[in-house]
Amino acid sequence: MDNLWNKPLDYNDEEAKLEASRCLSCKKPMCQTGCPTGMRIRDFILEIKNDNLEEAAKIIDSCSSLSNICSVVCPHENQCMGHCILGKKGKPINCGKLEKYVQNKVHYVREKSEANNIKVAVIGGGPAGLACSKELLLNGFDVTIYEAQNFLGGVMTYGIPSYRLDYSDVLRISDEITSLGAKVIYNTKLMESDILKLKETYKYIFIATGLTKVRKLGIPNDNIEGVYDALDFLMKSNMAIKLNLGEAPKLSGTVVVVGAGNVAMDAARTAVRLGASKTIIAYRRSIEEAPATKHEINDAINEGVEFKFLTNPVEVLGSDKVTGVKCEVMKLTEPDESGRRRPVGTNEYITIDCDYIISAIGQIPDDIYDSKIIETDHNYIKATNLKTNVDNIFVGGDIYLGAKTVVQAMRCGREVASYIIELEK
Ligand SMILES: Cc1cc2nc3c(=O)[nH]c(=O)nc-3n(C[C@H](O)[C@H](O)[C@H](O)COP(=O)(O)OP(=O)(O)OC[C@H]3O[C@@H](n4cnc5c(N)ncnc54)[C@H](O)[C@@H]3O)c2cc1C
Ligand code: SF4
Repeated sequence: MDNLWNKPLDYNDEEAKLEASRCLSCKKPMCQTGCPTGMRIRDFILEIKNDNLEEAAKIIDSCSSLSNICSVVCPHENQCMGHCILGKKGKPINCGKLEKYVQNKVHYVREKSEANNIKVAVIGGGPAGLACSKELLLNGFDVTIYEAQNFLGGVMTYGIPSYRLDYSDVLRISDEITSLGAKVIYNTKLMESDILKLKETYKYIFIATGLTKVRKLGIPNDNIEGVYDALDFLMKSNMAIKLNLGEAPKLSGTVVVVGAGNVAMDAARTAVRLGASKTIIAYRRSIEEAPATKHEINDAINEGVEFKFLTNPVEVLGSDKVTGVKCEVMKLTEPDESGRRRPVGTNEYITIDCDYIISAIGQIPDDIYDSKIIETDHNYIKATNLKTNVDNIFVGGDIYLGAKTVVQAMRCGREVASYIIELEK
């Protein structure tokens, strides 16, 4: 694989030791409060200092089921690192890279409990489904995963590019789960009625189907050749690069990516790697409102991606193939009661000549609800404490939370597993 597609290297022993030695072992570790899992960062760093990596791995395992992935893809700057006291005046501890170092050195898996023959169906093999499956399997449950694709990992496989997350890290967790005894039924997209039928076979069901669609641009001409949706574009590219399946899109000329979240950054950086000579991100607000992390924006800028802020596409230009995009120049209002500045049109227009347009303006759920028994809201599943309105059917991850993060999906999966384990005590 070309270097362009490889993730930067992890810490070696010397680098990890040096970074760990900077940790102050704070009495009140703020890094832990910043982590959605409450990861005991100070404690595992102390074990790195003590050369006790086995103990470090056990501490990590008590807080996270997908550590080798979250340690890489979490938005650390807003979470653990963003809270580290050293960051106030200088460089915060790189908690994620230290966590990954432990994962690279020790593959710790808890001992599995005796089988209890209680059957659980997990719908969707993304981070929420995998975390739930792992915890249930370790506790002796009989788990079957139903997965629409022919691979596990969800967005971790088909969305996040290999230059940010190595596919071997996803394989490690999916192999772990199948070694623990999970049955996986691939290429099986279930509708609501199929899921309800599974109740005859399985005592518990966990729905973790994520958000598999991208919002359409919704502007004239948005369906001509050369207009992609970001998930489709990234999926094609990731399948080719990671799994050797099919061909990655071949790009040339100028690509305009619409949106400024992390998905837009992934699409833009992938477009650069696939041969675009110029890649432009068009966003209707300013850099301050861009949902992508500063780190992701900087990486995109460093790779040559250009940004056009206060730029709102209003029409795709071209008859059968994209030749450009017409955009309205926007301005921001004064902050409203919620403190948010809204973009409003100025009636001034510009044209960006381009060959491709990629829509990355937000993911939405698929409509699989043919029975209308499970309560939903705009195709998101409604629940109280991750329990749906149907007995013993739980939900978690993006299909419940909205577009969030791997660690939050993982946390839902762990929580649902602990509810089920508690119910069977
Ligand atoms: C391009 C991209 C980049 C991202 N980058 C990051 C990042 O760097 N860091 C981060 O923390 N978060 C990131 N996220 C967000 C993160 O990936 C998601 O929050 C997380 O994957 C949600 O997990 P999930 O298990 O709920 O769903 P998903 O990961 O979406 O997995 C759902 C699974 O269910 C399957 N499925 C769907 N419908 C059905 C059905 N009807 N029947 C059977 N199976 C079905 C799907 O094929 C998929 O495997 C990114 C998202 C995208 C799109
Ligand atoms: S806040 Fe920073 S210095 Fe303090 S324990 Fe956490 S990582 Fe170490």
